[in-house]
Amino acid sequence: MHPLAKLDQAHVWHPFTQMRDWLRQEPIVLTAGKGAVLRDAQGREYLDANSSIWTNLHGHNHPGINAALRRQLGKVAHTSALGFANEPASLLASKLVSAANPPGSLAPSPSPRLEKVFFSDDGSTAMEVALKLAYEFARRTKGQKSPRFLGLQGAYHGDTVGAVSLGHIDLFHKAYAGLLFKSDAVMAPYCYRCPFNRAKPERADARDYRKCRWECVGKVEAKFATATKRQKPYAGFVFEPRMQGAAGMIPQPAGWLSKVTEIARGHGASLIADEVMTGFGRTGAGSASGPKPKAQSLFACHAEGVQPDFLALAKGLTGGYLPMAATLTTQVVFDAFLGEYTDFKTFFHGHSFTGNQLGAAAALASMDLLGSPQSVNARQSLATALGEELKSLWAVPQVGDVRQVGLVAGVELVRDWRTRTPFGLHEQAGIRVCQAMARRGVLTRPIGSVIVLMPPYCTTSKQLGKMVAALTESIAEVFGAKAG
Ligand SMILES: *Cc1c(COP(=O)(O)O)cnc(C)c1O
Repeated sequence: MHPLAKLDQAHVWHPFTQMRDWLRQEPIVLTAGKGAVLRDAQGREYLDANSSIWTNLHGHNHPGINAALRRQLGKVAHTSALGFANEPASLLASKLVSAANPPGSLAPSPSPRLEKVFFSDDGSTAMEVALKLAYEFARRTKGQKSPRFLGLQGAYHGDTVGAVSLGHIDLFHKAYAGLLFKSDAVMAPYCYRCPFNRAKPERADARDYRKCRWECVGKVEAKFATATKRQKPYAGFVFEPRMQGAAGMIPQPAGWLSKVTEIARGHGASLIADEVMTGFGRTGAGSASGPKPKAQSLFACHAEGVQPDFLALAKGLTGGYLPMAATLTTQVVFDAFLGEYTDFKTFFHGHSFTGNQLGAAAALASMDLLGSPQSVNARQSLATALGEELKSLWAVPQVGDVRQVGLVAGVELVRDWRTRTPFGLHEQAGIRVCQAMARRGVLTRPIGSVIVLMPPYCTTSKQLGKMVAALTESIAEVFGAKAG
């Protein structure tokens, strides 16, 4: 075993990992990367098919981001935002505000402008900030004593206690129930397994052939109506726009987001958009099945003409280089925290590394790249190519659903596609397929039986082909190439 692998196994405790399983085999020790390729300590090469857990945008070792970091390192790596401003954070805040208010892409007024940026360290803290701001905002301006939040079933917003409380993945909740505050959940669209979808399984994305009457929107409507009737309105509606990530890459049918956010607004709730996964161009310009967006935007909300009151960003913010996050909000929210020093209306929240200079420099470089015509074109071609490649998966009998939104796709494996019968937990279908993919030089991580494909934006069509081929071959290897 490689000495680094030995040290890892001796001392490192890995996130979301059953460490007994981890200790059974030699871990892959990644030591270098270039573009979509990662290299391990043994010199083997892999394709990074989930962009290093959904963070990387432009590829590893990107000359532009590297140069920006070197320039910043030549000045200073970190200074505190407690008491001091700094160059890259100021520039970045301004750039984020421009990107978050693209001209012509938003719903008709009243559509709030996102004006203010609160920096933190990762997706969980970005959501904690949104939560605390929305909570205090509702107390101060809506007269709510203990503001309540409505989220979506299967939602994931991070692992700190507040973020977990807003999420609705039962598995993560059971263990910590005693630590969490209560938040409500409402049905999220999951067309493939929707109890209201009366369509028989087809070899197509369930969003496209579903037969329903938008019962999922009715559920949201009913939830808000009941809360309003009981005079316990929701302070905020929390959602991952267009695609729920950790729930299993579950996309929303076109139109769902604009419908439910209109309902939420009608009941006076703030909109809290978690774009930690979907932000920075990941969900592409529009969905193949949905309406074309009114303008190019880096954010998923805007594809549905929705402008939230709180926008949480992290993973891709620095191009996947450094831990940094941002929560954007409106002037109205900001103003609710203004007052005399002795009024203590201050937002009492912050982190040691808030506004980190190196992170902000990387983020600025990443945003410059995102705005370049080459990147815009490359993303569009890659999304189209991904759609084409994914088509071949319908021939695989263990593939039940293939769902793509822009540059992210979830492939749900099932025992029988004709009945949508899932694999059992003990079969570890997703894990085994991903292990087989790693042996073929393609790295990704499953969510249950869902295989995630989320290529960096620099991925070539050849590399993309290899990712999908590795998936196809691995399914055949694990389950035998039975004909469906
Ligand atoms: C990853 C993720 C988070 C949490 O971000 P961390 O940086 O892991 O804390 C929150 N929301 C969504 C939608 C995510 O995908």
